[in-house]
Amino acid sequence: MRKFVNILFGVFVVLCICGFIFSKRTEYATDVNGWNLILVNEDYHVPQNYAVKLTKLDNGERVDTRIYPALQDMFDAAEEEGIYMIVREGYRTQEDQQKLMDDKVEEYKEKVRVKFVARWYAEKWVAVPGTSEHQLGIAVDINADGINSSGSEVYTWLAEHAHEYGFIQRYPEGKTEITGINYEPWHYRYVGEDVAKEMFEEDVCLEEYIEKVQ
Ligand SMILES: [Zn+2]
Repeated sequence: MRKFVNILFGVFVVLCICGFIFSKRTEYATDVNGWNLILVNEDYHVPQNYAVKLTKLDNGERVDTRIYPALQDMFDAAEEEGIYMIVREGYRTQEDQQKLMDDKVEEYKEKVRVKFVARWYAEKWVAVPGTSEHQLGIAVDINADGINSSGSEVYTWLAEHAHEYGFIQRYPEGKTEITGINYEPWHYRYVGEDVAKEMFEEDVCLEEYIEKVQ
């Protein structure tokens, strides 16, 4: 009898776990804290049909029109100090992100052969489609121009000054546990000047900041 009760309890536990796993539905990011504070990560997806007005840069990359003036100011200020940078990547569509993921999975599949393992590795480097900030248009990957400045010069300048223009380093060193993304010295995200300065001074990442203001 006791054995029977134990088995019954075991079945109950398994059912509970399955129920929990399958009930985890996709949650979508909201702009309740303002468009500049939308939080997109592995837990909060870009809202479906997220519409954004884009401005095209000289090199063809696009960004949300609302961040363009601040971005330009930042680039002008850097140039005045002899730092030459480019926006390597701005806005991405869901399809762009899907292609990036597919390519990365293929790349790993060559090495590990097993698809789900390849996907596991790929997700360490490429955001799952729907969870990339680039799909919002308010995040940019910034690189050196490759002629006048080096990558390390650019990353150092950005780390010291980007917050003055409303941009934050979105995936800082030492915050991977919280952001879920490896350290990326090139990825900057617009949050607005006041918030950026506050975050910089308090050394908090976006997840930590949002939790504090909510
Ligand atoms: Zn990026």
